Amino acid sequence: MSLKPACDLSTDLIHHPYQPPAGFEAPQGPVHKASTVIFKDTAALRSRDWKRRDGYTYGLHGTPTTFALEARIATLEGGSHCLLLPSGLAAVALVGMALLSAGDEVLLPANVYGPSREFARHELARWGITHRLYDPLDTAALAGLIGPQTKLIWLEAPGSVTMEFPDLAGLAVVARGRGVITALDNTWGAGIALRGFDHGIDIVMQALTKYPSGGGDVLMGSVVTRDAALHEKLAFTQMHTGFGIAGNDAELVLRSLATMPLRYAAQDRAGRALAQWLAQRSEVAAVLHPALAGSPGHAQWQRHCSAAAGLFSIVIDARHSAAQVDAFVDGLRLFRIGYSWAGPQSLVVPYDTASMRDAAALAKSPWLQGHLVRFSLGLEAVEDLQADLAQALSAAFG
Ligand SMILES: *Cc1c(COP(=O)(O)O)cnc(C)c1O
Repeated sequence: MSLKPACDLSTDLIHHPYQPPAGFEAPQGPVHKASTVIFKDTAALRSRDWKRRDGYTYGLHGTPTTFALEARIATLEGGSHCLLLPSGLAAVALVGMALLSAGDEVLLPANVYGPSREFARHELARWGITHRLYDPLDTAALAGLIGPQTKLIWLEAPGSVTMEFPDLAGLAVVARGRGVITALDNTWGAGIALRGFDHGIDIVMQALTKYPSGGGDVLMGSVVTRDAALHEKLAFTQMHTGFGIAGNDAELVLRSLATMPLRYAAQDRAGRALAQWLAQRSEVAAVLHPALAGSPGHAQWQRHCSAAAGLFSIVIDARHSAAQVDAFVDGLRLFRIGYSWAGPQSLVVPYDTASMRDAAALAKSPWLQGHLVRFSLGLEAVEDLQADLAQALSAAFG
């Protein structure tokens, strides 16, 4: 396997070390399902270390199938160690549980994935761990928030609803200068548009539910590190909490990884085409897509990224009523109403921005004044999606 030449990521996701049993060769690996793993004798049982990846202990600690997926996700993110969890949110929770203790504080960007904030507000808080929000577009202000109790800073680039893109590398420099660990939710960048370790991030988490799965049919999360000691700390908490994944789910993601760069590129193209088209419409006050000039943090997107996910939001002008916006969303036929993204089917969700920020933060975010609607591009023909948007806009807004 080491005969493989240096390759592009899209090649690496297909040609990865995997040894089929002697006498059998196929591109896809097997699905191993096990709770019990058999040891040949008591000496093997006693000498086995669950943390190592050169042998097996118990289904919860991994099988050849889950180890293969761990290796590929580490490759995808440009890291060296990977843990797999039963959802993206479980991956967020693992990082908090492993690294924070009573009296500690975690800083979250104001545009953080909503359930991550709810985890801090309802679960971390019960364990005596506090959180505060920082403005992701104000890198200098972050330094002022860090105190001796600050042990972890989450980053998102961009926020997956309001789409502001921060100076990720600058935020990482501030955190590192103060000795605080950084964790990036890289679900949007997916290791394709954005690689966190290249920008000084310590931990890169991803909801594999989105791009790596690509099918809208599996929930999974990953936590990737380059540092062995940090990985071990996370791995102990995973072991103690029993957050494991199933072989069949791992196989679904392994199968989809080979097409991920193609799907990402197609959804990027479709997203930019429709975002640009919507920017011309009179109903639309703002298009929030980091690859579009004028979107908050666009210059930072240019500095950090080579591509963009097929995900963007529009803000419908405040002169229209909430009922008209609902009628627009309900009038869409190809865009279906539902959470999550990066599957084959295009999705739409209206969001109430007033409930997503406090008044002071809203005042600093003029692009959020109006009715926000988020689109996730699937793999349908772009002309069909554009026609769908056009008919629903005309029906709702006249
Ligand atoms: C979906 C998502 C998650 C959580 O993933 P689940 O597998 O749905 O729990 C976390 N962060 C972001 C940015 C997401 O979009």
